[in-house]
Amino acid sequence: MPSEVLNSSSRPSLALRGVWKHYRRGEEDIQAAADISLELRAGSFTCILGPSGGGKSTLLHLMGGMDRPDEGEILVFGRDITRLKSDQLSAYRRSDVGFVFQSFHLLPTLTAAENVELPLAIAGVSLAKRRERAKTLLARVGLLDRSGHRPHQLSGGQAQRVAVARALAADPKIVLADEPTGNLDSQSGLEIMQLLGSIAHEDGRTVVVVTHNEEFIPFADRVVRIRDGRVHSDDVRKAAADVSAEHEAGVARSVQFGTLARMALSAVRRRIGRAILTGLGIAVGVAATVLLMGLGSGLESGVVAGLTSFGPLTSITVSPQRVSGTTSPFAPNTAAGPTTPITPRSLREFAALPGARGAYASVMFLATLRVGGSSTLSSILNLPPSRLASVSGLRPTLEAGAWPTGSGILVSAADAKALLGGKKPNPDKLIGRTISIRPEGMSGGVFGGGTGLIMPPRRLPFVTLRVTGIVTANGANYIPYTLATAWVKQVSGSASITYPGATVIGKTITDVAPLAKRIGKMGYGTTTVEQILQSITSSFSAIEAGLGIIGGIALVVAGLMISVIMSMSVLERRREIGILRAVGARRKDIARLFLTEVGTIGIGGGIVGLGLGAGAGEVINAVISKNASFHGGIFHLPLWLLVLGLVFGAAVSLIAGWIPAARAARLNPVIALHSE
Ligand code: ADP
Ligand code: MG
Repeated sequence: MPSEVLNSSSRPSLALRGVWKHYRRGEEDIQAAADISLELRAGSFTCILGPSGGGKSTLLHLMGGMDRPDEGEILVFGRDITRLKSDQLSAYRRSDVGFVFQSFHLLPTLTAAENVELPLAIAGVSLAKRRERAKTLLARVGLLDRSGHRPHQLSGGQAQRVAVARALAADPKIVLADEPTGNLDSQSGLEIMQLLGSIAHEDGRTVVVVTHNEEFIPFADRVVRIRDGRVHSDDVRKAAADVSAEHEAGVARSVQFGTLARMALSAVRRRIGRAILTGLGIAVGVAATVLLMGLGSGLESGVVAGLTSFGPLTSITVSPQRVSGTTSPFAPNTAAGPTTPITPRSLREFAALPGARGAYASVMFLATLRVGGSSTLSSILNLPPSRLASVSGLRPTLEAGAWPTGSGILVSAADAKALLGGKKPNPDKLIGRTISIRPEGMSGGVFGGGTGLIMPPRRLPFVTLRVTGIVTANGANYIPYTLATAWVKQVSGSASITYPGATVIGKTITDVAPLAKRIGKMGYGTTTVEQILQSITSSFSAIEAGLGIIGGIALVVAGLMISVIMSMSVLERRREIGILRAVGARRKDIARLFLTEVGTIGIGGGIVGLGLGAGAGEVINAVISKNASFHGGIFHLPLWLLVLGLVFGAAVSLIAGWIPAARAARLNPVIALHSE
């Protein structure tokens, strides 16, 4: 055949120019491709023959963009693929090349149809379209009735036909087959060669088949013999059909998320035992974190609830000294500097401040209480004025009876018992009875200078008060505010009145801080429940953080476990990675696949962990709430912790899976494909 005839057809679809490829094996330098130059035309069927180790597979890998040459050009429709970046080379494999291997390299977990769809799935083609395409191709290779079969349910010849269908999925212009008949009986081998021939001659694709079977030479348009990496002979037997090889560049899209998720799920399902173990690691870590932090947070809200029962959040305790950190106006710190007396006038000033709802004095009397023959010396505090009685938390807890008005009194259970006498006195018996009381003095002396107790100018007479109820708080007794202010006047005599402390009530919680600041500027000390709350909350945050760190360590251990398991998985699945790379998956597709897998396991483990942690917390609550002081339990799972648990589970597994995923993505496709 004259060479002009050959050259008259379209420009070569595939041209190699001076291609070299060396491998190092220990000391040895192997020339797998030595100065190879070849031009292949569209619609041609080329057989490559040669001894084992001669460089046939190397040549095919270079043509297919599975590997890069050391030197030379490989032109595909005029474009040099040796200059392509990794992702572009993947796109080339995905859309321009179809590979067929000796050992089929079908993914064992996928059905025949799914294997055919794989290159399209990687190219981001929609499920409906690729199903349609797989059907067409399986019909073409005569296996439509085997669509749903898995590779192990197919004969060798059938499996290789599925592999040919897969190679055609993306409608590539080039089909490369490396000893496709090597594992087949002669009849099946013949059928595959016929199929490949029709792909060249009917479809106009460039088909290159490596074989060592001379029997198949009649199928070929051209026979190239390779030995020691060199073209030994090049025998053109017939002209290739003159087909117009219009080349369209393949569309390079990403794998659809649904496809990734489906592949990841199937991989998880395939190694379900291992996935469960890994997920359990995450679950235990999340459970520990959630449980410990839930206990910390519950403990905090319990303490906060207990604390707010001391006084309303809107109240400010005022003392004559600028000392912070004490709620007791009766325990002045004499070392804490100058004092500003609290007088009836200062009370009016406090009440007139912006944001103030009212102000009243806090006083404490020392008084003799007498019923019948028995008497006791005890302290008496004032209740808030009646117009502030509706502010909850200002008054002590009433154990029995009713609130006093006018000349009423609340007696502490301890004093009631002392006054009643007898073996087992019932304090309630005192309700409704009258008792005689004489104020002996009043607290505040420290600020007045001297003794600590302000004494009346002369001894006051006994007055009779009616007991309206029993209280237990502080062991003190309580009288109405009006009565207390009258007593203050009597005890003070002609001297000017000063109080040991005052309480100022803000209109709202937000008024408290600015109000306290103003009062502070007047020279007084202020303490708010809000302040105490803040200091307690911050110390609890520290406890929670500590507990969280312990849980976090559990998570880190789980993460390490995942990392090890994923690394093993990458080793095991190198062949699968190789197949995916051969059909055009990019590095990031491989990484994404692995990360989707660990992410799925991580979120699954996280959900189970939340369940375990919350369950353990509820058990603790159930056990502990038998103790009255922990009524309602101490474990508490706020929404933020729920979300945090899930986010942690996913994040730890993603971080742990990152390195193995990156390693999988970096694998050389040829090496990956040939590892078992
Ligand atoms: P063939 O397919 O004709 O049997 P190959 O192309 O597989 O030959 O191999 C050609 C030569 O290159 C052989 O000597 C083989 O051992 C060597 N070779 C192939 N791949 C590698 C590799 N990744 N590392 C080292 N040597 C290799
Ligand atoms: Mg080979």
